[in-house]
This record gives sequence, C-alpha cells and structure tokens, in this order.
Amino acid sequence: MTELRIGGARVARVEESYEPNFDARRFFPDWDPAELERHRGWMVPDHFDPVSGMLKLSMHSWLIKIGGKNVLIDACVGNHKPRAVRPQWHEKEWPYLERLRDAGVSPADIHMVMCTHLHVDHVGWNTRLDNGRWVPTFPNARYVFSHEEYNHHLAVDRDPARGPANYGAFRDSVLPVIEAGLGQLVAGAAEIDEHFSVQPAPGHTPGTVAIHCRSKGSHALFCGDILHHMIQVYRPEWSSFACADAEQSRRSRRRVLEECAGSGAVLLPAHFGAPHYCRIESAGAGFVPRLGA
Ligand SMILES: [Zn+2]
Repeated sequence: MTELRIGGARVARVEESYEPNFDARRFFPDWDPAELERHRGWMVPDHFDPVSGMLKLSMHSWLIKIGGKNVLIDACVGNHKPRAVRPQWHEKEWPYLERLRDAGVSPADIHMVMCTHLHVDHVGWNTRLDNGRWVPTFPNARYVFSHEEYNHHLAVDRDPARGPANYGAFRDSVLPVIEAGLGQLVAGAAEIDEHFSVQPAPGHTPGTVAIHCRSKGSHALFCGDILHHMIQVYRPEWSSFACADAEQSRRSRRRVLEECAGSGAVLLPAHFGAPHYCRIESAGAGFVPRLGA
C-alpha cells in the first residue's frame, strides 16, 4: 500500500483497480508515439501496457488521517453500479472496503468525503446497495462537493435530452447523499477546516476543484483529473477525451503544475500509475516529475 506523511497527515492510497484500461490514442487526442519512445523507461509497465496499447490508469481514493479525523478524497467507481456502457465498471465487486479496513478505517470512521468532481469514477463509493436502495456508504461523513459542479450535473440530469448524468452516477451516487442530508455544497474557493481547502480548477468539468491539505508547513495538492497520467507533466497541453473544455483544462493543468513547482507541494492525482504521486520541478519552459515525497 502506498503511504506517505505530509506534515501531521498520514496519507494512504486505497486501490479499487489498477490495470490497462484506456486506449492511449483514444484517451489523448494528441497522443504521439514518439513520446512513448522518449519516456518508455518509466512508462512501461506501470503507466502503459505495450502489448495492448492501453494506458494503465489507477483507480484509487486517497485516505488522509489528520488531527484524529479520517478524510477520503474521490470515491472511484463503486460496487454493483449499473454501467453497461463501460463494461469494465459494470456491476463490479471490488474488495475496496476491505482495502480501506486494511488501512485501519471502517466506513463508519470516515468523517469527511471530498470529491474533486462528480464524474462516474469519482463518486461510486459515496453509496452502496442496501436492500435495493442506494444509501450513503459513510454514514457519519459530510460529503463535500463543488456547488458549481453539482449544479452543472443536476441540470444535465434533469434534461431529458442529456440525462441521466454520468451514466446514472449522479442519481445513484450523488443524489442519495444529498437526500440523506449529508451533502455540503461549497461555492468557489473555500476553507473547509483548519487543514483542507478547495480551489476552482475548471476545464475537465465545469466545477472541478483542486483540494489542498496543509499541515506543519507541508502541502499536498489532490488534483483529481486535472492531470490523468504522468505524461501530462511533460505534456501539459494534452487534455483527455473526457475533458469538457480542453483549452480551459490546459490552463488549469498548467496552473496546478506551476503551483506545485513553486511551493514544493506533493501532487496526488486520482489516476497516476505507481508510485501514484510526485513532486513537480520546473525544467526550462516545462515541468518534470520528481518521484518520492
Ligand atoms: Zn477520473
């Protein structure tokens, strides 16, 4: 299990899946095989599977233990969710909660869940199936969502021409949390508590936020899908097929990289392959990852 310390925080990666899962050429419209050759030394086998041509995008949450509290960032795909259009995510039974327990935490011990955005692979474990109903998996948590993000997906969901939003994930993994009274919708940049804050970083989705955790002079930046893959540290202009606004996504990606390079913050994305996080250094007009905390 990936674990690191950031100030007084203990941060652990809780894996849902880690396997070749997206065709590189489809995932990145700007994909260039020359970049694979240039970076093959680190990219294979942890970030790219040369046999299938697939990227290896990890699906994981970050668990942060700090000040006696347990905070979960991003909630993967989830179990039993009907996602027929994405067969690799359809009605799965992953041992995710067992892995959470291996990290020393049961669902009732989670104080706060924060979602960087509300795509299908970031909200799944918000709820679990209980006698045919979707109920909050973490009954003692408050769930922090961007208000802009919530409003966007609510509008899509209610529009018969565009809904249901996110393959149904808005209805089975977001609305039940709101209906249970556990949602906390946060507008714009906001301090959440003495350690956590959110900062708008739109582009991948209209309401994507970067989540910051600061402790004892150390800084972690949980960027969700502002970057999907470590190759984007070298090629920040590469947006993914799933980015709602490719140009805005580029701007937010570069801003996050500049912030990490300038502050020394550890970057913890939602899908990077092993070792799953890095620091960022400026290199000429661009950036390079530095592995290890
Ligand atoms: Zn994602």
